[in-house]
Amino acid sequence: MTGIEASATAALFAAGLYVATYLSFVRLLRFPRNWYPPSLPASLATGVLAALTVALVALSPDGLDRPALAISLGFVVVVFYIIAAPATAFRPASRPVEFLAKHGDHAGLWLLGPALLAGLAIPNIKLQAVLATAMAIELTWFLRQRWAGRRRRLYPLNDCDLSVLETQARGDLVAFRRRHGIRELVLSKGAVSWRGCGKSTPPCPFNLYVNRLGLNTAPCCREHMKELSHHVAACLSEMGVVHWLEGGSLLGAVRERGALLDWEDDIDLSVLLDGDMTWERLAAGLAERGARDGYFVDLFEKKDFISISFDPPKRWPFRWERNRLRGEIRADIMIYRRAISHGEAVLERHSHKGAMPATESGGYGVPQEIVLPTSTVPFLGGDVTCPNQTEAYLRVLYGDFRKIEYTYVDAGPAKARARIDTGGDPSVR
Ligand SMILES: [Zn+2]
Repeated sequence: MTGIEASATAALFAAGLYVATYLSFVRLLRFPRNWYPPSLPASLATGVLAALTVALVALSPDGLDRPALAISLGFVVVVFYIIAAPATAFRPASRPVEFLAKHGDHAGLWLLGPALLAGLAIPNIKLQAVLATAMAIELTWFLRQRWAGRRRRLYPLNDCDLSVLETQARGDLVAFRRRHGIRELVLSKGAVSWRGCGKSTPPCPFNLYVNRLGLNTAPCCREHMKELSHHVAACLSEMGVVHWLEGGSLLGAVRERGALLDWEDDIDLSVLLDGDMTWERLAAGLAERGARDGYFVDLFEKKDFISISFDPPKRWPFRWERNRLRGEIRADIMIYRRAISHGEAVLERHSHKGAMPATESGGYGVPQEIVLPTSTVPFLGGDVTCPNQTEAYLRVLYGDFRKIEYTYVDAGPAKARARIDTGGDPSVR
């Protein structure tokens, strides 16, 4: 093999390693999107791949190329920080992360200039290959997002959505749209509509619109949540699984008389693993039905948690890139098991929810008779299974659940919209 062939092969290897690192990293982002820290084995695998990429770039028979080491390491850290921002921002995040998340479809391209300069300044073909590969991935990501965004279709805004929007915009919709980059908002002569999300478009970014700006959930997202909640509830019923509406979804069903909370961002359901219904049976049944009906089922066995997304992932190798998207129409299913705590029969879960009290074994639990036998409640145009005593259940979670609390909505927007939500303006509700 000549020297040129050897360096070309090494450059190809470096590019391949970067692609592997990238795919491993975007797969890892499923954890923060579901509010969990990334798992240790998956994090280690990604770390090892990143280290191998940087080592291959910086090491050669001539020794260590220090500038290439510094540039490749710095570049990987910065580009992955940008890529992770939308997933990180699923929880309230710092201003810089929010900013990067908001521009997540094209922020990677901001590195195009620096990558070009570094590639020209440092004559290391492996470094040049990694930089070129990374920029090619960011460019195709941007183009695919823009292309998919064209498939959005128009939804009219109802009076309540419009009233909240106008209040938050202080009457100037044009300036509000421009200031916050709300591309979905369509303002034409006297009409206000929303260019809605669908299965093949990027999702509406909830965090920005609902939590930061205090807007109502977009009409497209509400429609998809309705479809998803009925799909999941029907699957669980079909499988004979004991389940019930949970959290904000149950609150909407009871307090908003079968509707979603105006600022809802997901569907919450709970499941009791009991008798011969094991985790494996539940997971397999949901995955099979999800594949059949075009939903994506993501399993977190160690967390006793399943998330089902409205939009299915793309084909490999784009499968895990969905984790770069901001926002998601999702149903979260939490697992409960029977337990005895302080001499009382309870249904117990792994993670904290509302003000649910801790159990003896370190989980969180609700008295069994509040949930079983389950009942049904009207929800989004159908009947969905709910706890036996819905109001008692909601009191365990939220105390005085009739009092409106804007969960996750920033203090400023929450205060501003409280006036119209509780002020009794008859035109609003
Ligand atoms: Zn939407």
